[in-house]
Amino acid sequence: MKIGIYPGTFDPITNGHIDIIHRSATLFDKVIVAVTTNPQKSPLFTIKERMDLIQSSVHSLENVDVESFNELLVNYAEKRGAAAIIRGLRATSDFEYEFQMALVNRKLSKNLLTVFLMPNEKYTYLNSTIVKEVAKLNGDISCFVPKEVYIKIKEKFQELKKGAK
Ligand code: ADP
Repeated sequence: MKIGIYPGTFDPITNGHIDIIHRSATLFDKVIVAVTTNPQKSPLFTIKERMDLIQSSVHSLENVDVESFNELLVNYAEKRGAAAIIRGLRATSDFEYEFQMALVNRKLSKNLLTVFLMPNEKYTYLNSTIVKEVAKLNGDISCFVPKEVYIKIKEKFQELKKGAK
């Protein structure tokens, strides 16, 4: 069974991530979307919220699981018996960092491959940060994220506004 691990922060999942998950699900027998608990990124959503949003966005894909991890990615991937790490490549701006990570991970675990997939061109400008910025200022993000995320992000900013009063 070929397992691919798609790691990231997913704060929150966007249509770009979902595009990559759909492509991965045709390549691997099983895809694990692995949400990092790394608090350094100060995520807007809790780990559980991020996992629930991923789950509801990809529930139609039977060979996709959602997990969290808080250790070195290659160690986690080895424990799960993964053949490859999956990463999305949007533009050349992603390349340098991704290239470095892929080579470091290969050094740490020589049999673990990194596979890069490109999303549909319409998602190449999309990331979670821009979605949060637009949503925070009441912009329409409905074409960037699935419906569940659209609803949850609105609720989240309303909660935060109330809390700030
Ligand atoms: P990270 O914290 O690793 O940047 P993200 O959740 O932002 O986590 O992204 C996880 C992976 O998904 C990365 O490989 C990233 O390049 C990819 N990705 C993010 N947004 C998109 C998109 N719009 N299209 C394709 N891949 C994407």
